[in-house]
Amino acid sequence: LDQRLAEPKSKDELHQLTQSFNRLIHRLQGGVEQLKQFISDASHELRTPIATIEGHANLIKRWGKDSKEVLDESIDYITSEARRMKHLTNQLLQLAYLEQNQPLHSFEPTDVTSMVSDIKNQLIPLHPRIELAIRPTAHPILAQIPADTLQQVLLNVVNNAIKYTLNGDWVHIEVNRVNQNVFIHVRDNGIGIPAEDLPYIFERFYRVDKSRSREYGGSGLGLAITKKLTELYGGEISVQSIPDEGSTFSIRLPLEAQQRLISA
Ligand code: ADP
Repeated sequence: LDQRLAEPKSKDELHQLTQSFNRLIHRLQGGVEQLKQFISDASHELRTPIATIEGHANLIKRWGKDSKEVLDESIDYITSEARRMKHLTNQLLQLAYLEQNQPLHSFEPTDVTSMVSDIKNQLIPLHPRIELAIRPTAHPILAQIPADTLQQVLLNVVNNAIKYTLNGDWVHIEVNRVNQNVFIHVRDNGIGIPAEDLPYIFERFYRVDKSRSREYGGSGLGLAITKKLTELYGGEISVQSIPDEGSTFSIRLPLEAQQRLISA
């Protein structure tokens, strides 16, 4: 572009080149702004666990030798905050990678029905007081997405459904196929999401109730990552929710190429 700008052939070409150049500058400026925002959000989120760790290290220094209680409690805090920071930095790295929209590698399609039942079997023993049920499909349904990515997407959404649902309640997962797509609906009868928050919950670091979400160990990054992952594989995620009644997260993914041909 630089070279062509130095030797424009006509006035028209010069005009077109200047316009392309301006668009490029505009996109670069947008990218720099996004990056600045990302760094500032990330530092803000890391500041809280760092302050907690620092505070408890000081407590140990002052009282640790005299009080076993202070020592044990502070060590517990430091361990759990360090774990939170580790999870947060892993999520940040993944999001930064996804935001570059890396080209996809080749991958095998995944059977959604069996993945959903694996996840159910994995989570049921961890949450015995939640009724976790799936509506099975008669045949395997293959989606055009790698298994580890689908597992991450489903675990994020199902774990949220469990996390924001009180003990004794239910989470239901339904898989079905409509035309060339697979739909996975994750329904819960939990705390729900207020209408004014719904448009923002897929944005990074957005939490409906910051203090409550922190209490649950939430970072506000899970849904941002989930959205990026589904979009990277040609799908999408949406939500419907009523406060105090529950939420439904719906994931659409393109059917695997072979099944698409058969059903076309
Ligand atoms: P977090 O790590 O805080 O759970 P997410 O990005 O996964 O972050 O979710 C963003 C916010 O959306 C959560 O903090 C919570 O307020 C809300 N949320 C997500 N799933 C549900 C759900 N099933 N029911 C109610 N609120 C939810």
